[in-house]
Amino acid sequence: MADFAAPLRLHLDGGALVANWHYLQRQGSAACGAAVKADGYGLGAREVVKRLRDAGCRDFFVAHWNEAVAIADLVPPEWISVFNGFEAAEIPLIRDLGAIPVINTPRQVAAWKASGGGRCHVMLDTGINRLGIGPEQFSDALLDQLDIDILMSHLASADEDSPQNAQQLARFQSQAQDVKAKRRSLANSAGIMLGPEYHFDLTRPGLSLYGGVARAEMASGVTPVVRIMARILQVRQLDDGDAIGYNATYVCQAPTKIATLSFGYADGYLRCFSSKGVIIADGKAMPVIGRVSMDLITAHINSVPTLTEGDWVDVAYDLPEVSALSGVSQYELLTGLGNRFKLSWL
Ligand SMILES: *Cc1c(COP(=O)(O)O)cnc(C)c1O
Repeated sequence: MADFAAPLRLHLDGGALVANWHYLQRQGSAACGAAVKADGYGLGAREVVKRLRDAGCRDFFVAHWNEAVAIADLVPPEWISVFNGFEAAEIPLIRDLGAIPVINTPRQVAAWKASGGGRCHVMLDTGINRLGIGPEQFSDALLDQLDIDILMSHLASADEDSPQNAQQLARFQSQAQDVKAKRRSLANSAGIMLGPEYHFDLTRPGLSLYGGVARAEMASGVTPVVRIMARILQVRQLDDGDAIGYNATYVCQAPTKIATLSFGYADGYLRCFSSKGVIIADGKAMPVIGRVSMDLITAHINSVPTLTEGDWVDVAYDLPEVSALSGVSQYELLTGLGNRFKLSWL
């Protein structure tokens, strides 16, 4: 079959990924794991796992069992933990696979014990009230006889200076006190920057491995991993008064040179970037003007008029900056990236 080159490229910097993992690990003495759920936050879990494994990472967290299967040939299965629990009927498959379940409910505790037990992790809900054994469900007796490797909880507001952080820490310390477990874990990316008392034995960053700045304190320590490049499909010279794109939301106020690029909301560049996004060429930032379409965006290129059909330009994707610009979270900016890119790992 003919193999056409994609007019859209996603460059992924493996060196930056590994540097970010080392940076997060250096924030304390705990071991540093990696959340690689949602296909490595959209960047490709297999490539992420290989690089972090080679750098020394020994704990990989996914959400679904199929995500564990997808990386199970890359690392010993017991290095893989599955956040979202299980159904009792899945236990035989889980044992075959050998990845470790995170038990989230008393019902899962009972099912795991009834099936003969074995190594597991346990999630205590200390206030996010989302997934995990709640304080009203918790007792030391509930968890006895379990062979718990990681006893964990998850912070709700670690990216903010909220009193909830200290509350969750205190609740975790008091609940975890009498539970027998090999390791304890509380911090995600943002939680790591709250200080070593939040680290326990193991941290579980995701976002900041991939270049996300989860708290301002890490802005100078985290390196971008993602770079987006799109090909110019057409260049036009428009006049004062000409309108651009669906619903004519942008009207030129002067003679305007525009470039139309192969990139759109089907690739994860949502409509909130309409007349807000930025492209970069020759070191110059230029605005995206008019509506983002499914497969196309238009940009104002008067400042680099030499740009022409077939040229490649960068689409600005600095995560904290672009998140502030668009209101889309850094997480969604990553996981929303589509599947039409040609991926290349550097
Ligand atoms: C996703 C997730 C993480 C990683 O969080 P980041 O904010 O991306 O660092 C850690 N722990 C749990 C339970 C998660 O669901």
